[in-house]
Amino acid sequence: MSESASLIASLDELRQQALAACAEAKDLRMLESLRTSFLGKKGRLTSILKGVGRLSAEERPLVGKHVNELKTVLAQAFSEAESRLQVVAEAARIAAERLDVSLPGRKLASGAQHPLQKGLNEISDIFSRMGFTIAEGPEIEDEFHNFDALNIPPEHPARAMHDTFFLRSEDEQTSLLRTHTSPVQIRAMMKHLECNGESPLAVVAPGRVYRCDHDVTHSPMFHQVEVFKVGEDVSMAHLKGVLQYFLSTYFNRDLPIRLRPSYFPFTEPSAEVDMGCVLCDGKGCRVCKGSGWLEVLGSGMIHPNVLKAVGMDPARWSGFAFGLGVERLVMLKYGIPDLRLFFENDVRFLRRIGG
Ligand SMILES: [Zn+2]
Repeated sequence: MSESASLIASLDELRQQALAACAEAKDLRMLESLRTSFLGKKGRLTSILKGVGRLSAEERPLVGKHVNELKTVLAQAFSEAESRLQVVAEAARIAAERLDVSLPGRKLASGAQHPLQKGLNEISDIFSRMGFTIAEGPEIEDEFHNFDALNIPPEHPARAMHDTFFLRSEDEQTSLLRTHTSPVQIRAMMKHLECNGESPLAVVAPGRVYRCDHDVTHSPMFHQVEVFKVGEDVSMAHLKGVLQYFLSTYFNRDLPIRLRPSYFPFTEPSAEVDMGCVLCDGKGCRVCKGSGWLEVLGSGMIHPNVLKAVGMDPARWSGFAFGLGVERLVMLKYGIPDLRLFFENDVRFLRRIGG
């Protein structure tokens, strides 16, 4: 076989193989790699054309014509295959992105407030509507705000009763987890004096407090709301009126209340507050131990020493203060039998009470 005939035979073979491969290509990537292997710089056509140099001058035009024809045919074949595979790729993409609009929707789980947070908000809202300003303070406190300024000096027996978590700090300062929200009373009064000078103020301070007397009826962390009002003529009558309004609003019914003499270091006089039992309407039940009354909070007139500690003149200013246990109020309102339910995070309980 002459040199040119052998070259032409190779070109024909290449043509058949390339056309067959083109027809069978499954995707654009595969097609591109075929194009490189047949027509690329280091491809099979290039290596066949190396033989053209050995041809005589008469043979070259004949082979050249074949090569040009081959290039045209293959270019056409690759271009057609590319169009075909583009359609396939587009169809595959559309199929992958297909949405079945008839499928039922997936529900988004909506969060809800924890029953205690809900209680804190409800309680704060009632006082807020009465004109009390909401204040917050740090949970890590010092002895001055948690005890000293509240008329509980270091040797006072009430300190021992607070079951305080003390924190060790590097600067030798004694820090502690606040045992009540009353330090916010001190902070709010001091800040108010600094910003406004001596003038009336009314504050509600919700928050977490900590005591280390953990048992079934106590949690080491619980919630209180501190409420106080200072003015030039604030009296026990105001205290009773505010309590009456608050308890009736929170429990959504007319509730009798009564004040019993008591003792707290930071109030003078001090009073325990009872309200008519919300479970038996005062008839007497297991929860109120048959008395028809429930003890709900401690209250009193702010002790002159507390006013002095923040720099207010007790001869001119007077105020009332009380602290609410949020867990107890929420339990009474919703008939929750066990404090531990609040902290077990059982969603069935949280859904029933929260929201
Ligand atoms: Zn009762």
